[in-house]
Amino acid sequence: MQALIAALKELYPDAVCTLEYASDYQLLFNTRLAAQCTDARVNIVKDVLYARYPSLEAIADADLSEMEEIVKPCGFYRHKAQNLIEGARIILDDYSGKVPNTMEALLKIPGVGRKTANLILGELFGQPAVVTDTHCIRLSNRLGLCRTADPVKVETALRELLPPAEQLGFCHRLVAHGRAVCRARSPACGECGISGLCPSFPSSP
Ligand code: SF4
Repeated sequence: MQALIAALKELYPDAVCTLEYASDYQLLFNTRLAAQCTDARVNIVKDVLYARYPSLEAIADADLSEMEEIVKPCGFYRHKAQNLIEGARIILDDYSGKVPNTMEALLKIPGVGRKTANLILGELFGQPAVVTDTHCIRLSNRLGLCRTADPVKVETALRELLPPAEQLGFCHRLVAHGRAVCRARSPACGECGISGLCPSFPSSP
């Protein structure tokens, strides 16, 4: 495991969260918008969103249909718009306007699952965090770290394998590698910098 951690660090020394955000609640809401959508598209939509609603209070008071129009390019816009408005109200009413820093509290916010909660805990609060997005799940299986598509089981497996301080960075690097090389339909095993550590090489998974 140490060799894999080190190799990915060498390949992607600067891998970070690719969602842009300017405040704690923006990361939470942008992550919600990114479900079934690309980070690149969310990074465009969020400029319109936060120009129209520049504060948590403005989002909490937003007109639902207007919010739906703004987040429509991200897909599942009805749920997402509703989640953002309700989420803003909960953060204001129950957490004094600050995104909470526990898994339990985060999971009570509409639209927030373990993946989002882990990202928030890792990015904003520096806590150990395993973010099981689609790249993380696919690569963890190809790399032989687990044998399951269940996000909670992948999270458990990676938590057992990774030192706490390495967890978030490792997940960011899996995303980077998944986008650049170990793609879902066409993994470029011949060009892969960690092929020597991968049980799926040389046969394409
Ligand atoms: S060898 Fe192939 S399957 Fe393994 S990590 Fe590299 S690209 Fe992915």
